[in-house]
Amino acid sequence: MARDAEAGALAGTVRSTCPYCGVGCGVVAQADGQVVGDTDHPANRGRLCSKGSALAETLKDGERLTRPLIDGRAADWTQALDLVAQRFKATIAEHGPDSVAFYVSGQCLTEDYYVANKLMKGFIGSGNIDTNSRLCMASSVAGHNRAFGADVVPGTYEDLELADLVVLVGSNSAWCHPVLHQRLLAAKAKRPLRIVAIDPRRTATCEDADLHLAVRPGADVALFNGLLAHLADQDALDHTWMAAHAEGFEAALAAARQTASQTAALTGLDPADLARFYQWFASTPRVVTVYSQGVNQSSVGTDKVNAIINCHLATGRIGKPGCGPFSITGQPNAMGGREVGGLANQLAAHMRFDQPEAIDRVRRFWRAPNLATRPGLKAVEMFDAVLDGRIKALWIIATNPADSLPRADRVREALARCPFVVVSDCWPNDTTALADVVLPAAGWGERDGTVTNSERVISRQRPFRPAPGEARADWRVLAAVGQRMGWKDAFSWTSPAAVFREHAALSGFENAGSRPFDISGLAMLTDGQYDALAPVRWPVRWAGDEGGRLFGQGGFATPSGRGRLVPTPWRPPAGRIRDQWHTMTRTGRVPRLLAHTGEPRAALSPADAARLGVKDGDLVRIESVHASTVVRATIDAGQRVGELFLPMHWTDEFCSAGPAGRLVNAALDPVSGQPELKLTPVRAEAVPVAWRGLLLHRAAVRPQGVAYWSRVPLSTGHAFELVGSDPLPAGAALTRFVEGLLHPPAGAEWLQLTDAGRGLLRVAILVDGRLEACLFLAAGDGAQLPPRDVLAALLGDKVTDAARPSLLSGRALGGVGATGVKSAGRTVCACFSVGLVTIREAIVAHRLTSAEEIGACLKAGTNCGSCISELKEILRDVHASA
Ligand code: SF4
Repeated sequence: MARDAEAGALAGTVRSTCPYCGVGCGVVAQADGQVVGDTDHPANRGRLCSKGSALAETLKDGERLTRPLIDGRAADWTQALDLVAQRFKATIAEHGPDSVAFYVSGQCLTEDYYVANKLMKGFIGSGNIDTNSRLCMASSVAGHNRAFGADVVPGTYEDLELADLVVLVGSNSAWCHPVLHQRLLAAKAKRPLRIVAIDPRRTATCEDADLHLAVRPGADVALFNGLLAHLADQDALDHTWMAAHAEGFEAALAAARQTASQTAALTGLDPADLARFYQWFASTPRVVTVYSQGVNQSSVGTDKVNAIINCHLATGRIGKPGCGPFSITGQPNAMGGREVGGLANQLAAHMRFDQPEAIDRVRRFWRAPNLATRPGLKAVEMFDAVLDGRIKALWIIATNPADSLPRADRVREALARCPFVVVSDCWPNDTTALADVVLPAAGWGERDGTVTNSERVISRQRPFRPAPGEARADWRVLAAVGQRMGWKDAFSWTSPAAVFREHAALSGFENAGSRPFDISGLAMLTDGQYDALAPVRWPVRWAGDEGGRLFGQGGFATPSGRGRLVPTPWRPPAGRIRDQWHTMTRTGRVPRLLAHTGEPRAALSPADAARLGVKDGDLVRIESVHASTVVRATIDAGQRVGELFLPMHWTDEFCSAGPAGRLVNAALDPVSGQPELKLTPVRAEAVPVAWRGLLLHRAAVRPQGVAYWSRVPLSTGHAFELVGSDPLPAGAALTRFVEGLLHPPAGAEWLQLTDAGRGLLRVAILVDGRLEACLFLAAGDGAQLPPRDVLAALLGDKVTDAARPSLLSGRALGGVGATGVKSAGRTVCACFSVGLVTIREAIVAHRLTSAEEIGACLKAGTNCGSCISELKEILRDVHASA
């Protein structure tokens, strides 16, 4: 990895790191306001996916939080910080340190995380700090600790390119880690490299795989137990390597023993497919097994991780080029949070509460007499404790648990009941709405610190624009509260560089090679060197050191120094969209990222859809024991019969369906505490459709009185899809109903066309002669509505007298509206905003036969490549119907 003293500075540009996913791509913020890929960053070498490509579009301050709020009213920082410190102190004095908690985020920079962890565990004296990374990768942490004695990803991204077999388990990398996926495909294009995708759903990733194993949800342990037994039966083990570097094989194999027919029955897989996968794994020396949320987000997640690692330890395929188990994180700095101890059951710098000498070591390093001596409450338990009153003061930083946690309604009730809730964030969301104190945070492009990606590379996030209003970095706010609570010296840093130096020094404190996480070689960085720090992989034990693969020659962090195979006896267990991220707090404000998928859809198999009497686009009610919701259905031949898939992103802000978290189980993995987010029993039924509607509005209103709505932001306003399951009312009730949809401002001019015979209602609202909103409702399930993007172009425009009739006339239904603009259709390529209609027309007009030819013609698919599988589908469809 090239070191570059000028790493932070190119003329007129600033190098930083993408804030979306654990791939951790380098970006360059240019003087012209564009954000492009950093060709020197080892993770991406200049590539970006659709989310990274749209980063510049997230830098709009419109709805940002810019001042502290106390009880919803603007306050100054002194008032807010005094109040937070005073309420936390008073709560601790009356009820003890475990009556308060922090819930933080993989969005936090390492420096933010370090200060939060030091404040809670070191000085308040409670373990009650947990992170939303608990929902993402806690099972990997627990699995790594069990197998390696430390939370370490042994390999590097390069291993995916060097492998001859890459197994993707519960990992839709084409959508969730697109740049890494493109690196994998580029390697596959150059030489024989097999990809096996293990996923209950046929995702975009499966299109690129040589074999897709649609495993029964939660049955991954049975699948990898079967593999371990097969490797033993075929004598495909590395006994020499195991004799030198591993332990626990016999017990792990005994727990994994099952017949081939038992494996097929448990996994629901075709025995021939199983046999092919097992034979490929057994006969290929270079194998990487990648796993992410589909493995982690499970009540048996830790066992899944260890079942995978067992197969790698048993074959010695770890820490060597092209080999290894490889956990990929969802969040940009989940790894940094793990390094500082952001999880409730970790201490700091990868030290643990079950190591008495570590507790003493951290106590002495921090000079922290109150140091917590036992783990705190993990995310789901933490909010249970808020609900039942054990936690009375809570500080939430950079995360939206009101939407993202399981049983989201229960979380909202807990927040409403909690005597004191502080939320630090950039934008208002469903959690800030429930806070007593809201603290405006500096966001990406304004923050200054470090993040660690999934291959242990530490990169800088650098500021290149001022934070809006009074927004501040989280570490500064936490340190200010720590000082006000009485610990002036311990929280006296004046720069993020100073925080980082302390974090780096702690990692090397009394280490002497016993803990793999050691970045003490960075503890003496000057402020200037920190500013210029080039991406560097840990461990960094001395200045100029650079970490590589780990454990190839043993050296595990277990007491024996051996890697541990862990018995994972089978026990039955108790989604994401391409262009969206988490609860859409950032991506939901970028119109082109909602152009590909603008609403949450429940994917149903054709057989289930037929059984329920549901067509593509119809409404379905989905009901669990916790809640019910209404969403649109999409018919997906890749969905297993008897199961449906619902994405995680949407919230009450964007759709009447609200967060999927309302429905899901809170069953926990007994080791990692990670909740089961991938599997919840539900029932589904069709919801009748009486009418459909399209609303275009300058404001983000929340339509009332409809069975279903979803909102997509546009550059000119917002577009709403509406569906009603009751007939449209008549007379005065219709007027009230329309007002509930439009929320017309006082004095607005109202144009209306009603055609009761055809079941049509069209309304336009003008304010000062400009189009404020327009509404089109049509009775019936197959109702035709005008194309959205044509009418959206008119929002906010002066409407001339000549143009008024065309606003409400049927002319717009033809695809060309009053502006003469032709619709490009639903966006397929978000990077270059290329629509379905444009692509289909180009295929026909230019006789295109491949995704590459479409790329050459329209640029679609030539940036992040995550729409390539969809382009191939469109090609198939166009040619089939020719
Ligand atoms: S793959 Fe995409 S979202 Fe992830 S870090 Fe790279 S550019 Fe950002």
